[in-house]
Amino acid sequence: MQFNSKVIHAGQHPEETSGAVMPPIFQTSTYVQEAPDVNKGYDYARVGNPTRTALEKLIAGLENATECAAFGSGCAAMDAMIKMFRPGDHIISSNDLYGGTYRLFTQVFEPFGIQFSFVDMTSHQNVENAITKSTKMIWIETPTNPLLNIVDIRAVVHLAKERNILTAVDNTFASPYLQQPLDLGVDAVIHSTTKYLGGHSDVIGGAIASSNKAIIENARFQVKTTGGVPGPMDCYLTLRGIKTLAVRMQRTCENARKIAEYIRNHPKTGDVRYPGIEDHPGHETAKAQMKDFGGMVSFSLKSDSISKAHEFMKNTRIFTLAESLGGVESLISHPASMTHGSIPAEVRHKAGLKDSLIRISSGIEDIDDLLEDLEHAFSKI
Ligand SMILES: *Cc1c(COP(=O)(O)O)cnc(C)c1O
Repeated sequence: MQFNSKVIHAGQHPEETSGAVMPPIFQTSTYVQEAPDVNKGYDYARVGNPTRTALEKLIAGLENATECAAFGSGCAAMDAMIKMFRPGDHIISSNDLYGGTYRLFTQVFEPFGIQFSFVDMTSHQNVENAITKSTKMIWIETPTNPLLNIVDIRAVVHLAKERNILTAVDNTFASPYLQQPLDLGVDAVIHSTTKYLGGHSDVIGGAIASSNKAIIENARFQVKTTGGVPGPMDCYLTLRGIKTLAVRMQRTCENARKIAEYIRNHPKTGDVRYPGIEDHPGHETAKAQMKDFGGMVSFSLKSDSISKAHEFMKNTRIFTLAESLGGVESLISHPASMTHGSIPAEVRHKAGLKDSLIRISSGIEDIDDLLEDLEHAFSKI
């Protein structure tokens, strides 16, 4: 089945007792058993729920995984994944990571003795140099946030496979519409389904998809044992969101490309970061591993200051000032004072994150309205 059909049909069946086409929200904590050792596949809802199962089968189908385990948030999914490892194990990850991932690795798992190296993964030489005898996993995020750097997934997988190291990709920014890491040899895909998969900024969720038995067993064990489960209503909302993933992503990418072009040609713009622009350093890799270039655009202003960026954002009317991304509505944010506000200015600057850097999550509105809104904001600075 092709991807645009899979988002609607993968692993989905009408509900057996009623014939309901859409999976019901099974709002229950427990299930009747015919005998102490006989049940219909479910015993207690921390372990499993039919609405959750429908969501898991759908995500597994989209990522070409044998299985998927759904979690209550992207952070809960990442937490479960890292609990596969033991004190002394070493994980290599990018230095341009989602802030919540960095916090989880350094403030929860480092104190328990798991070691992390954070390297610039745009060069796979840096990844190779960081490998030690204890390296158990390489954690990739691509495109990165907010600079939209691209990591060559195939090159990192090649390094890892030669040495029996697992690889994981946080596929939140791309979504399976744009990129299917398991097909490139990656062992596990992690999602914050809160973003593009859910797609409507109305639910928090996460997932691990994999065809690796040990990874799936660990994910299920962690769900059951540490309890980071999604509720049935949240599973339903995510499932409903995913059905329109393909059409939303198509429009989102189309809008982002036009926004990037418009901003790039504006005299008040500094740099534009969008993997679809030919002079973006990751453009060729993005072309090779992604179907399109995504819905995120970052740019700085010619007069690079925090106050100019604030002034710009005060003057958009459609672009809503908010963290997060991947919803149908266009959002605008200022990493230096929001998501990356706790990073000292010189560290931020060294990573290429300018004071005026503005990040846009393109929604699916009419492009003429979006461009007019940006024009208005530019006219005020
Ligand atoms: C949002 C996000 C997460 C965390 O997911 P939550 O659902 O907010 O817990 C992880 N990785 C990336 C890339 C994200 O954007």
